[in-house]
Amino acid sequence: MNVKEKLERIQQQINNACLNVHRNPEDVKLIAVTKYVSVERAQEALNSGIHDLGENRDEELLKKWEVLQDKPVWHFIGTLQSRKVKNVIDKVEYIHSLDRLSLAEEINKRADRIIKCLVQVNVSGEESKHGLTPEEAIEFIKKLEGFPNINVAGLMTMAPLTDDEQLLRSCFRRLRELRDQVQALHYQYAPCTELSMGMSNDFILAIEEGATMVRIGTALVGEDG
Ligand SMILES: *Cc1c(COP(=O)(O)O)cnc(C)c1O
Repeated sequence: MNVKEKLERIQQQINNACLNVHRNPEDVKLIAVTKYVSVERAQEALNSGIHDLGENRDEELLKKWEVLQDKPVWHFIGTLQSRKVKNVIDKVEYIHSLDRLSLAEEINKRADRIIKCLVQVNVSGEESKHGLTPEEAIEFIKKLEGFPNINVAGLMTMAPLTDDEQLLRSCFRRLRELRDQVQALHYQYAPCTELSMGMSNDFILAIEEGATMVRIGTALVGEDG
């Protein structure tokens, strides 16, 4: 299937999920995760009307950034090593994986404008997942006040790989509650309106639980059938 066909199917699923919970589909930003695919496939996604692309490695983002004609909005979605910040900082609009103070320091130092960051939270507590615990996240966000180039745009999580719908929903719900807690603090540097959650396998549930950004790779740009 080409990207346009996949996009139509996914947009329909997004619309339906929004309808189920009385949300406006325009409040869900679709990010095409192009990490597995070629530059040509990423270009095809842009031609199909997608504006936002996500990559999780600096080399791959740079490669595509240089070649793609229509400049997409870039999202850095993977673990970011501090020494790589300088490679991507002037190319990305959002960093979804802020999870430690040393990384915040580096972003703040290298940026020449305000960078929209999402704080990554490991809601499920799985060892293999990066991110702060929900308890740590609030304290962490309080400490970001001293970084003028960092705007806490929202929170991000990766749910466990499971078919257990109740477990997935509870992870997404926990992130949403945490987002609401941060918003209630009314920090100017932390509007925290975004909830980046939901991938190919779980984006429908994530949207029903309030996702404002879904990061979809395989189901949207996958080069398989
Ligand atoms: C790869 C990746 C995705 C997309 O995964 P799919 O299952 O292919 O949709 C989303 N978010 C992050 C952080 C990723 O690394």
